[in-house]
Amino acid sequence: MNTFISNSTILVISLLIQFSISAQEKPEYVIVIHGGAGVITKENMTDEKEAAYIQKLNEALRVGAKNLTTGGTAIETVIAVIKIMEDSPLFNAGKGAVFTHDGKNEMDASIMDGKTLNAGAVAGVSDVKNPITLAYTVMTKSNHVMLSGKGASKFAKEQGLEIVDPKYFYTENRWKSLQKVIEREKKKLENEKEKHGTVGCVVLDKYGNLAAGTSTGGMTNKQYGRIGDSPVIGAGTYANNATCAVSCTGHGEFFIRYVVAYTVSALMEYKNLSLKDAANEIISNKLKAVGGTGGLISVDKNGNISMPFNTPGMFRGYLKSTGEKGVMIYKD
Ligand code: ASP
Repeated sequence: MNTFISNSTILVISLLIQFSISAQEKPEYVIVIHGGAGVITKENMTDEKEAAYIQKLNEALRVGAKNLTTGGTAIETVIAVIKIMEDSPLFNAGKGAVFTHDGKNEMDASIMDGKTLNAGAVAGVSDVKNPITLAYTVMTKSNHVMLSGKGASKFAKEQGLEIVDPKYFYTENRWKSLQKVIEREKKKLENEKEKHGTVGCVVLDKYGNLAAGTSTGGMTNKQYGRIGDSPVIGAGTYANNATCAVSCTGHGEFFIRYVVAYTVSALMEYKNLSLKDAANEIISNKLKAVGGTGGLISVDKNGNISMPFNTPGMFRGYLKSTGEKGVMIYKD
């Protein structure tokens, strides 16, 4: 009897210890961001540019943390963080969007709420200052999930969102990139370096809710109203409180065909993979094998994060309520 009591007491105590360790380990909130993946190497980066990227990524994380510590939800935080990056000319989204073949800026964005599985997305918008806000408004104020082009712009106006002259999106850097890409394509040269970019944010809030958002100018020199993975729910963006939140960046056509963001969630849900294994499987094995360049950021319901990429670099950062924080650009 005594042995039984002492054994069960030990069992209870060890369970309590385990529980308190995991309770301690689970952060109250987590933010993960990316500013695009691609041929981003130390060699083709200046010190000033590197510092500017790091500063902007830190600012985005700070804004996100402030939002979360003052009671903001995951979805509100995703919007606030992405707006910071959309308003910066550094990233291929909003102000820094790349040019299409016809010299225009056509932006895509999406957002998903892991609690309700509600989602909103926009494609090919040219005059809405913050496409992520429009994606959210589609989610909350329309009966649809995805709006595009002129209709999306009309809806934005009706909803009182900030509309700008399309010239607002002109930046000299992106214009030069377009010229370079066109030149290289004429010479049938590879163009990887100039084409990529996107911004994204995934969040776990203290209420246990996950959310994900992605915003992009797409790919330089895109034609015929091309739409990438960023506004496609399940491809570029996915969130589900039961599993994880994911935002992708990379060669959109591959991310659409391999349904990348949802695949991470499905591997966790149906195959019981950890977030890390699921994210690595799709980015480092599946996509890499077929030449699909890019990466993703993700956070699971327990606050674990994973940020794999199969390109030389990916602008990325994370912050946890536990004080853990990191901002990185290149491969470790
Ligand atoms: N995924 C984006 C697109 O294909 C671009 C990128 O993330 O680099 O439109």
